[in-house]
Amino acid sequence: MTAIPRAADSPRPRVRTRSSAPPPTPGLPTRPPAPSIEDILARLTLLAPLAAGNRGPVPLGDPRRVAAAEYTWLLATARENGVSTAALVQATNSPWRTLKARLRRHQVIPSPPSIKPYQSRQYVRPPIDHCVHQHPYTDENTYVHIDPVTGQRRPKCKQCRAKNQARRRQRAAAENTKAASPTGKAASGTTSRLLVPTD
Ligand SMILES: [Zn+2]
Repeated sequence: MTAIPRAADSPRPRVRTRSSAPPPTPGLPTRPPAPSIEDILARLTLLAPLAAGNRGPVPLGDPRRVAAAEYTWLLATARENGVSTAALVQATNSPWRTLKARLRRHQVIPSPPSIKPYQSRQYVRPPIDHCVHQHPYTDENTYVHIDPVTGQRRPKCKQCRAKNQARRRQRAAAENTKAASPTGKAASGTTSRLLVPTD
């Protein structure tokens, strides 16, 4: 390995490298030791065709197989660093559903029970302990939502539910006021214009 240290620090933000970084794909230019978001996106573009060829009986150590591992790792790293879905779709020229299926196969994001876990567990992420708005999934703040179609049970955030309900009520109230007084007069009583018979 010829690891030449960089002469000067790049002004671009560098992302954290994980100790579990997979080996770089043979036959491709070497990967920067601490790839920036731009580096990751460029490398994803480079790897996408090779990674897509990793299907069927591909021998161990084959560049397609190695590329697929690197590709998944870069996708996971990009997601961890807040790279947008649109940017990943553009860089890989793959629809989001394809990328999402890959991340689920590799247990980067939780998969529905219909998807069998991939044999490798090297990309396991810690369990989800907070909602998308960073509210903790504590016992007091969590309720279990059962999907009416699939029957899947998943934890949901009570704080977010309360916020969403409040917003919905506010919007409904605003719409009622608008419907009741189109001329701008204040609505009086509880009778909505919509409920008044027209004849
Ligand atoms: Zn929440």
